[in-house]
Amino acid sequence: MHIATQAVQIGLEWDTRTGAVTVPIYQTATFRHPGLGQSTGYDYSRSGNPTREALELGIARLDGAARGFAYASGMAAIANLLLLFKSGDHLIVTEDLYGGTCRLFDRIFTQYGLTFSYVDTSDTHAVSAAIRPATKAVFVETLTNPLLKFADLPAISTVCKAHGLLLIADNTFLTPYLFRSLDLGADIAVYSATKYLAGHNDTVAGLVTVKDPALAELVYFHQNSVGAVLGPQDSWLTIRGIKTLGIRLDRQQENAGRIAQWLTTHPRITKVYYPGLKDHPDHDLMSRQARGFGAMIAFEVDKHELVEQILLKTSLISFAESLGGVESLITFPEVQTHADIPPELRARLGINNVLLRLSVGIEDCDDLIEDLRQALEG
Ligand SMILES: *Cc1c(COP(=O)(O)O)cnc(C)c1O
Repeated sequence: MHIATQAVQIGLEWDTRTGAVTVPIYQTATFRHPGLGQSTGYDYSRSGNPTREALELGIARLDGAARGFAYASGMAAIANLLLLFKSGDHLIVTEDLYGGTCRLFDRIFTQYGLTFSYVDTSDTHAVSAAIRPATKAVFVETLTNPLLKFADLPAISTVCKAHGLLLIADNTFLTPYLFRSLDLGADIAVYSATKYLAGHNDTVAGLVTVKDPALAELVYFHQNSVGAVLGPQDSWLTIRGIKTLGIRLDRQQENAGRIAQWLTTHPRITKVYYPGLKDHPDHDLMSRQARGFGAMIAFEVDKHELVEQILLKTSLISFAESLGGVESLITFPEVQTHADIPPELRARLGINNVLLRLSVGIEDCDDLIEDLRQALEG
C-alpha cells in the first residue's frame, strides 16, 4: 500500500465497538482490571494508552518498523534514545545539527560520560575516519538543518554494520513519506513530529521507530521507565496531522521548488541552499534515494541589514521558529534555532549573519513569492 494511503488509515480500525472512524481520545490515567492478575492490555497510561498506541502503530507501519514510540517532544525522544548508551561510549554525530540536539548532547549527556564527535555525515569517509574503539553509534540527520546536506544512509549503514555500530536517523525534515530511513539501513528513526508529521504548528511531539524487535523492547522499557510520553490529546492531534502528510508535502515541495528557483534569480540573494536545485552538491544522490527534496530552503542575502528588513516586512510568512507546518515560517538561525551551536562551529558550517531559513507552507505559491519580493525590495 502506498504510504500516503497508509497515513490516512491511521486509527481507522481502532474502535471496533462503535466503528468510530477516528480513534477516540482515551483521556484516562488508569484502566480497571477485570480480575486479579488480569488486564485488558492497558493498566496505566504511562505504560500504554490506546490513543497513543494508535499513533505508535501508525508510525511503525509508515516506517516498516517493529514498533513505534511517541514522546512529549522530539527532544524527549532523542534523550530517551541516548539511554541506550553507557558512560564511556562514543557517538558520531552530524555536525550541521539541530541546536537543541547539540545542547542535549554537549551540555547534558557529556556529564554522564558520553562523548560525541561532530562530522560532516554527507561525507561517508569522514564518518569512517571518526570511528574509535569506544564508538557505539552514528546519529545522522538525514537532511540537515539549516544547510540541507543529505547523508548517504546506505553507505553509512554499510560502515556501521562492519563495525557493529547502531545507526540512528533523525528523519524530521523528510518524514517516511519522502525518505524510508529504516529500509535504507537505519536501525532507529527519530522525528520531531512537531514539524511535518503533525504539520499544523499546533502541537509538540516526538516519535521513534525501531526495526529490531529486541531493541524495540529495550526502547519501550526506557520509554515506560522515564515516562516522557505523549498525552492522548496530542497523540490524537498528531494522528490527525499525519493523515494529510502526503498531500501537504506534495504541495509544500512544489511551492519550495518554485520559491528556491525564484530566489536564485533575485539580485539581492547571494546563495540558495535547496537540494532540489541542480547545482546542490547532494542533488543527484537525493534524486536516487528520496522521493523528493523537502520544503526547507536556506538563503543568504547580500547585507546583514536586509535580514532584519525581511523578518519585519514579510507578512504572510511569519517570523517564528519551528518548521514543517501548513503556515510558512521564516527564521534567522544564527540567533534563533542555532544559538546553542558553538560560534566557531557555526562559522565553519556557514550559519552566519546573512543566512535565513524558510519553511515553506501550503499557501498559494504566487502569494508567497509576492510576500518575499515586497520584503526584499522594502
Ligand atoms: C525540532 C527538531 C528537533 C526537536 O524536536 P522538538 O519537538 O522541538 O522537541 C529535533 N531534530 C530536528 C531535526 C528538529 O527540527
